[in-house]
Amino acid sequence: MLQQTQVKTVLERFYFPFLEAFPTLQKLADAELDDVLKRWEGLGYYTRARNLHKAARLAAPEMPQTVAELQALPGIGRSTAHAVAAFAYHTPVPIMDANVKRILCRFFGIAEATEKRLWEHAYALFDTERPFDYNQAMMDLGASLCSPRDPDCVTCPFAAHCRGRHDPLAYPRKAAKKPVPVRRRIIVVHRHKGHYALRQRDGRFLHGLWGFAEYEAADTAGMHALGNITQKYSHFTLEGEVYLAERYAEGFEWFPPKALEGLALSGADHKVLRLLP
Ligand code: SF4
Repeated sequence: MLQQTQVKTVLERFYFPFLEAFPTLQKLADAELDDVLKRWEGLGYYTRARNLHKAARLAAPEMPQTVAELQALPGIGRSTAHAVAAFAYHTPVPIMDANVKRILCRFFGIAEATEKRLWEHAYALFDTERPFDYNQAMMDLGASLCSPRDPDCVTCPFAAHCRGRHDPLAYPRKAAKKPVPVRRRIIVVHRHKGHYALRQRDGRFLHGLWGFAEYEAADTAGMHALGNITQKYSHFTLEGEVYLAERYAEGFEWFPPKALEGLALSGADHKVLRLLP
């Protein structure tokens, strides 16, 4: 939930309502995917919600506890498996997040590190006698003294052994940012007898979410222009021209306005909704 969403927002709007709706792994496993996506609406990265649901179905009634078993579940990579094993079950394994990666790169003086090398260093530095405290300390160090832009090497307890202390900002080297491509689309809201036409997406992208008709190109003659929307995704930016077409169209499901509130919609489709007269 915390990817791209601030802790405060997650706590205020998402985390507790999600736990209330699905208080056990079994409840999550038994839920319909649509309900899970609806609770996730606004967080983005919907693959996470789908994988969470799939993982619950595979693991219910209990989550496995070892790194290997956790990593075998959908959506759980090496870092997540280590974090769950370390914090939920106190398994003596190191964690790896952006903060830990930065500390490891600075401590070992590595400008460009592969995942494999970082894990080797994580295990090399790991304190097997006080694993829980060690992981907590790494997180605290990354959030305080060894911060991304303003590391405080003078007071850092690692300074005597840290290879990066003379030029900490050089580690890790920043990758040049690639320009994000723009996708231009025509978004058409079909309205007929007071009902709106939507489709449930079945491709990989935004799978399971409902949306209005979207075309690369379309003849908009006879339609009403409603405005434009922009939605940023991790790998592209969507720029949509939105039109209202007062006519029936094939291949959709039709919903009265009130029912739209109950559907799981993408952020872009919510913006389209707000443009409707
Ligand atoms: S000495 Fe500086 S660069 Fe090294 S771990 Fe501490 S704060 Fe980070």
